[in-house]
Amino acid sequence: MDCIFCNIVNHTEQAEVLFESDKVLAFLDINPVNFGHALVITKNHYPDFLTVPKDELDQVVNTVQAISDVIKHKLNSDGFNIVINNGTAAGQTVPHFHFHIIPRFHNDDFRFKLNLKKYSDNLMKEYADKIRAELK
Ligand code: AMP
Ligand code: ZN
Repeated sequence: MDCIFCNIVNHTEQAEVLFESDKVLAFLDINPVNFGHALVITKNHYPDFLTVPKDELDQVVNTVQAISDVIKHKLNSDGFNIVINNGTAAGQTVPHFHFHIIPRFHNDDFRFKLNLKKYSDNLMKEYADKIRAELK
């Protein structure tokens, strides 16, 4: 399988690496929303968030927090977004699990395009009931 992020892990594709450990790799996104936009991936290929083993997810999350801290306090961003796109319907273009960490600035002119809905009647409770039932 030809996966661009696996190729970065295997050093057959170049990347601006920020951090590397046994299970985790972080590098700069080549098309940043803002400069410093970072990606954090598992070195192993998993297609999305749901398929990542918990111990590897823990290690990825630690790296996401460390990089977020640098982005906020050393790059002096006003805020940051942490995003995972899961599935093409959610905008995922590279099918190898990754977190985005996006530095944000007041008036940076980037907005997620939201088209917010309203729940009618009992619908909110119906959705909550469905989710709660499956969590038990
Ligand atoms: P997603 O749409 O969530 O799958 O995000 C994939 C991200 O990977 C995009 O923001 C791309 O700009 C980024 N990307 C794709 N190829 C590379 C690459 N070779 N090096 C760094 N970032 C990449
Ligand atoms: Zn891969």
